[in-house]
Amino acid sequence: MEFNLDRLVRENIKRMTPYSSARHEFSGAATIFLDANENSFGSPLPQNYNRYPDPLQLSLKEKISNIKGIPVQNIFLGNGSDEAIDLMFRIFCEPGKDNIIIFPPTYGMYEVCAEVNNVEVKKVPLTSGFQLDLDAIEASVDENTKLIFVCSPNNPTGNSINRGDIEVLLNSFDGILVIDEAYINYARQKTFIPELTEYPNLVILQTLSKAWGLAGLRLGMAFAGQPVINYMNKVKYPYNINTATQQLALEALGNISSVNNWTKTTVDQKEFLQAELFKLPITQTIYPSDANFILVQLTGAKKIYEYLSAKGIIVRDRSKVILCDDCLRITIGTPEENKQLIEALKQYAA
Ligand SMILES: *Cc1c(COP(=O)(O)O)cnc(C)c1O
Repeated sequence: MEFNLDRLVRENIKRMTPYSSARHEFSGAATIFLDANENSFGSPLPQNYNRYPDPLQLSLKEKISNIKGIPVQNIFLGNGSDEAIDLMFRIFCEPGKDNIIIFPPTYGMYEVCAEVNNVEVKKVPLTSGFQLDLDAIEASVDENTKLIFVCSPNNPTGNSINRGDIEVLLNSFDGILVIDEAYINYARQKTFIPELTEYPNLVILQTLSKAWGLAGLRLGMAFAGQPVINYMNKVKYPYNINTATQQLALEALGNISSVNNWTKTTVDQKEFLQAELFKLPITQTIYPSDANFILVQLTGAKKIYEYLSAKGIIVRDRSKVILCDDCLRITIGTPEENKQLIEALKQYAA
């Protein structure tokens, strides 16, 4: 397999000159900043936000670099992983011409971003065991296939995708393979980060929205070879991560003991929920999960969803999704929340 990034990138993106901010054009030590039309007096807040944020988020990236063991120049930070997903389309996919491949049932944003960008989506469903159908994938790839999205652990099924199968794609696909590792902190499967040095076609997505408990801050991470990261920086909004998020994320990343404890408790609580669900007569299938949620097939899932909603317990109804007939996706809550869920389901089943 011959990987050629130049062949993949849209011509307009290769040609364009990126936006150059005021602070970008100056390097050196300064004390008076009259270059960016900011308010020089301050902000109507206890903390000042009158200055534009660091466009490349270097302090935060250095912290992430230390935690993840990956050089700063291989890191992109976005307004959630969703920004990184959208950038993949804008960099690589010519609207009305190129296509991508996804493996349903999977995360919805890949298709939404494709539609916004007018890019064709080829769908190769997972097998009944929620694994990749490698023969069907090979048959679907054509010369305009720019991106393949693998979500592992997969949302909404919860399982990890077989590592060997992902490696087959990495070795054979000459477009960009995006591995979405949003739930990697909960998984027994290891991250593909160490493989970045070997595969220039690999982009890995992670996020602070799940295990890290920072969904409200909006910070997604992409890890990739430097040439791909450079294109992401070229196309992104200049100040895509605001000052408050940069400061708060930096503070949070210095504070990981509670995060590790929550992850352990979540895995324990997942086992509790699985054991309790197993006892209920309405439970048909509990799918194995490497994530902080479980997919459960229940007799009359839609009715159960409505019953739970009326009790103020909201789960995700996935019963109309391919391969997920009669399935609900249940996020692991606190021990108290999980107990209440099980009590409600026991009452329903009685
Ligand atoms: C939740 C989730 C994300 C996170 O997206 P953010 O924009 O970082 O909040 C990404 N991918 C998958 C598969 C998810 O389930």
